[in-house]
Amino acid sequence: MSCIVDEIRREKEKQNAVILAHLYVDGEVQEIADYCGDSYYLSQMAQKTDADVIVFCGVEFMAESAKILNPEKTVLMPARDADCPMAHMATIEQIKKFREEYDDLAVVCYINSTTEIKAYSDVAVTSSNAKKVVSNIPNKHILFIPDQNLGGHLAPMFPDKEFHFVDGYCHVHNFIDPKQVEALKAEHPMAKVAAHPECAPEVRAMADYIGSTTGILKYAQETDAEEFIILTEVGVAHRLHLDNEGKRFFFPETRPVCPNMKKVTLEKVLRVLKEHNDPIEVAPDIAERAKECLVRMHQWGG
Ligand code: SF4
Repeated sequence: MSCIVDEIRREKEKQNAVILAHLYVDGEVQEIADYCGDSYYLSQMAQKTDADVIVFCGVEFMAESAKILNPEKTVLMPARDADCPMAHMATIEQIKKFREEYDDLAVVCYINSTTEIKAYSDVAVTSSNAKKVVSNIPNKHILFIPDQNLGGHLAPMFPDKEFHFVDGYCHVHNFIDPKQVEALKAEHPMAKVAAHPECAPEVRAMADYIGSTTGILKYAQETDAEEFIILTEVGVAHRLHLDNEGKRFFFPETRPVCPNMKKVTLEKVLRVLKEHNDPIEVAPDIAERAKECLVRMHQWGG
């Protein structure tokens, strides 16, 4: 193991590369990353880095966002086939239809969207900054795509606005079983429940705290409790245990695992660093429009 880690480090230095890893990838991959965090944090780091090569340990929309913000840099994905199914759950046709229907429509896309969807949207959000971004939108009608759970979590915070949704969801969070959460609560009555807003409404209703992955990490650190029920992807367990010695974390029996995030391995990181195979490319016209959507997110949600 240390041999491959050393080789990755050597290769990284030689190429002036930076490794960004999402908190849902395996712990050993998180360990070799220069920056590890949620989509918003990684997007900020991608914008700031002066590295020549970005190795993105995550899914495709994340690496594409990094490329859009850094068109001159080489952006590589260790698992080139790691994709987020939710990113494809809204269509350009749906956006066009809503725009025809509502004159003052603002199209707000979750960062978990394809580059094409970003190019047709007005602004992107992450679960960390969605509230702040939406509070900067003057329009009454908001089409929030693709995640109807995050949108449904936000909508009640803006009673003067009318939210519209499409049928999008994250299969990892949406199918967390409320019965399993109830069982965990019965087993650990003193535990605080922290849920990601991608969870379904009945699961969110059981939570003491609802927030992004980074928000959940912060909540666990700052809350004076010894036990937590965590309702998000199990990859966060790695960081939760590192940051909170002595605290105990419980996940639902059917563990929420994102199979795409788990495609990233140390071997694949090393291989892509050495071979630079299949770097991320985004058509310049689409990239330019998608960039506006991402830059606006950083301006309004920073
Ligand atoms: S956890 Fe859900 S939203 Fe995140 S990449 Fe996996 S499928 Fe997509």
